[in-house]
Amino acid sequence: MDTSHSDILIIGAGMAGLSCAGALAKAGRAVRLLDKGRGPGGRMAARRAQIGGETVSFDHGAQYFTARDSSFRETVANWHKAGVVAPWPAAGDDAWVGVPGMNGPIRAMGLERDVRWGVRALSLKREGNLWHVDAGEEGFTANTVLVAVPAEQAAELLTEVAPDLAKVAASVESAPCWAVMAAFEERLGIEADGLREPEAKISWAARNSAKPERAGRETWVLHASPERSREIIDMPKEEAAEVLLADFFAQTGLAPTEPVHLVAHRWLYAMPASVKGEAARFDTALNLGIAGDYLHSPRVEGAYLSGRALAEAVIASEL
Ligand SMILES: Cc1cc2nc3c(=O)[nH]c(=O)nc-3n(C[C@H](O)[C@H](O)[C@H](O)COP(=O)(O)OP(=O)(O)OC[C@H]3O[C@@H](n4cnc5c(N)ncnc54)[C@H](O)[C@@H]3O)c2cc1C
Repeated sequence: MDTSHSDILIIGAGMAGLSCAGALAKAGRAVRLLDKGRGPGGRMAARRAQIGGETVSFDHGAQYFTARDSSFRETVANWHKAGVVAPWPAAGDDAWVGVPGMNGPIRAMGLERDVRWGVRALSLKREGNLWHVDAGEEGFTANTVLVAVPAEQAAELLTEVAPDLAKVAASVESAPCWAVMAAFEERLGIEADGLREPEAKISWAARNSAKPERAGRETWVLHASPERSREIIDMPKEEAAEVLLADFFAQTGLAPTEPVHLVAHRWLYAMPASVKGEAARFDTALNLGIAGDYLHSPRVEGAYLSGRALAEAVIASEL
């Protein structure tokens, strides 16, 4: 097995991992990231599809984000200047989306760092002062390991080596979300580009094609509520897509229209149902830390701020 070493290894190159990596790099630290995804996005993913010779992209995870914290607002303003985010007033006065897909800022942040996409950390082991990360065909060693993955996945990775950190992650439960990506020949007879109905089966629906820089045919993303998602959690994808599209038509009163493209994706750990209310945690004895939306607040901004807080804790531990 090939093994390579880095000073700091971050598992998870979503918003939390990349924001942490950016702050550490700024402080002069050498950082490598591993991500099991084939490309940048995490829960801010964008998925492409070929429909009638046209390439269409769907934001099937996070739909938009807000920026309330002043440091995050500054970062978002820089992303805006760099052309990787744009305002999307349909979701609110302070709503932003990645461009040309939701993963725009993740892609941009990833390009500035040493990220290994398509590499899944399977387990961690500590020998002396060194961490060993088993990633199947490859192995990695590092002085410090930072775990920036959803709560349940963090708990699984950490149980053996850091029961206290694993306990923090295991105490958070994430809500699932079935997402449906649908394209239609004609524009649907709905005026609004975003429909929010927290109590309904389809708690969010968006005309994806109306987001900035998404020209092309009529596309929609539907998100089932956590309750509806749990009811049909083990349903085959194709069937779930049909059932949820029917829910959408029933809910909106639209006459059912045959889609030209219909795909569902199941997010098992979409959003933490509760958060720990602490920004991040770093164990200075083990040189091991955790970050993610489940620690700070359950959204893009929370993940960003958690990553930054973990970087600050790592830097502070060396002073
Ligand atoms: C359906 C849905 C709708 C949402 N809507 C909104 C919204 O409208 N607004 C909002 O602000 N937020 C929304 N969110 C939440 C938002 O997407 C998250 O809060 C944020 O993206 C979390 O970032 P993160 O870095 O903590 O986690 P993630 O984005 O999940 O990143 C973790 C990364 O770790 C990788 N990974 C996991 N395990 C391993 C492993 N063993 N080895 C290597 N890599 C691993 C994953 O591939 C992933 O890229 C939504 C999320 C979903 C799923």
